Amino acid sequence: MKKKNLGINSRMIHAGEFENPLGSATVPIYQSSTFIFENADHGARCFSGEDDGYIYTRIGNPTIHALETLVADLEGGAEGIATSSGMAAVNTLYMALLSKGDHMISSAAVYGPSRVVMEQHWSRFGVESTYVNTSDVEAIKAAFKPNTRMLYIETPANPTMEITDLKACAALAHEHGALLVVDNTFSSPYLQRPLELGADAVFHSMTKFLNGHADIVAGMIVAKDKALGKKLRSMMVTMGCNMDPHQAFMVIRGVKTLGIRIERAQQSAMKIAQFLEAHPKVEWVKYPGLESHPQHQLAKEQMFGFGTMISFGLKGGFEAGKILMNSVELAILAVSLGGVETLIQHPASMTHSKMNPEDRLKAGITEGLVRYSVGIEDIDDLIEDLEQGLAKI
Ligand SMILES: *Cc1c(COP(=O)(O)O)cnc(C)c1O
Repeated sequence: MKKKNLGINSRMIHAGEFENPLGSATVPIYQSSTFIFENADHGARCFSGEDDGYIYTRIGNPTIHALETLVADLEGGAEGIATSSGMAAVNTLYMALLSKGDHMISSAAVYGPSRVVMEQHWSRFGVESTYVNTSDVEAIKAAFKPNTRMLYIETPANPTMEITDLKACAALAHEHGALLVVDNTFSSPYLQRPLELGADAVFHSMTKFLNGHADIVAGMIVAKDKALGKKLRSMMVTMGCNMDPHQAFMVIRGVKTLGIRIERAQQSAMKIAQFLEAHPKVEWVKYPGLESHPQHQLAKEQMFGFGTMISFGLKGGFEAGKILMNSVELAILAVSLGGVETLIQHPASMTHSKMNPEDRLKAGITEGLVRYSVGIEDIDDLIEDLEQGLAKI
C-alpha cells in the first residue's frame, strides 16, 4: 500500500520519513547536537551535499526530519522547514522572500506580532507593507504596487474570523509576480490546504492545533516546490531558528490525534456559536459555520470544516468582557488556541494590545471582542460554564 494514497487520518499517523534500523514503533528523539562522520571523505560528501547524511542539528536532525516530512505530506508540499516557533517561521519567510525596497500586502486582522514586527522592525530595513481587509478582493487589488513581492494572508483571520478567498489571492499574486504565503495556523491541514488552492508557501504556529496540547512552542513552513524550500531552509539554518528534537517528538505525537481532536471540538464549536447567537447579552457572533457569517459560503468552498475558533461581541462592551473573563470557571483565561482545553481571551487588552488602537478598530477588533477556542471537554459543561459567566454580566 503506497503511503501517499492513504487518507489524511492514516497519514497523520504513518506519513513522515525516518530511518528505523531498530524497528521502533515511534520516532525516537535524536537528542544530539552533532553527528559522527564515518571518515574524512564522508564528512566532505555530507558538506558538499553529495551525501544526505546528518551533520549538525541546526542544519538537520532525524527526529525533526520526520516531522518536516510528515507536515509537508499533510499540506501537499515539497518541503517542510521546522522552526523554533511560529514567529520564527514568520521572520524566516520575511527575511528570505523580501528585500530592501520590496512591498508586502497583508490581512489587517493578522496575528498581532506578525504585523508589529513588519511595521516596527522590517520597515527599518526598507521593507514596505500595506494592511487591508483581505476578505475584500477589490481591496487587495487596489493595494498592489510595482514592487509588491508578497501577499501574506491569514484566513480565517485572527480574531475577526474573516475569510479570504485563497484561489483569488493566488491568481492576483501570480499576475503581479508576487508569492502567496498563507498562515494556516487557525485551520491546520485537516481543515484547509492552501497549497492545493495555489499558495506558494504555507506556515503554522504548531504551538496550536498541530501539537494541540498547550505544552510546546513550535513552527513549520511548507513550500510548494523544492527550489523555494531550499531557499527557506537555508535562511532558517543561517538565522539559527531551528527546532529542537524534543519539540519535534512532541509535535509528532500531537499530530496523530489532530483529526479526532478537531472533529470533536468543531462539533462543540457549532453548538456554542448557536448558543451565543441566541443569547440576549451577546451582540454578535462570528463563526464560519453560522449562516450569518459574511463568508459562510466561501468557508464551505475552501475549507473542509468550520474549525473551533469563535469570536463574539458583548452588548456590555469592554466591562462586560472583563466580567466574563473573570467569571468563567471551566474555560481557561489564557492566550493561544487549538488545544484540548478550552481557552478564552480578550484581544484588545491581550494579543492585539500592542497594535495602534486606531488600526485595531479598523481591523475589526472592537474593545468588547472575546475570542474563544473550543477544546474537547463535554459540550454540556462548556455551555453551562458560559451560561453562568454571562449571567454575571
Ligand atoms: C500563535 C500564532 C502565531 C505565532 O506563533 P508562535 O508559535 O507563538 O511563535 C502566528 N500566527 C497565528 C495565527 C498564531 O495563532
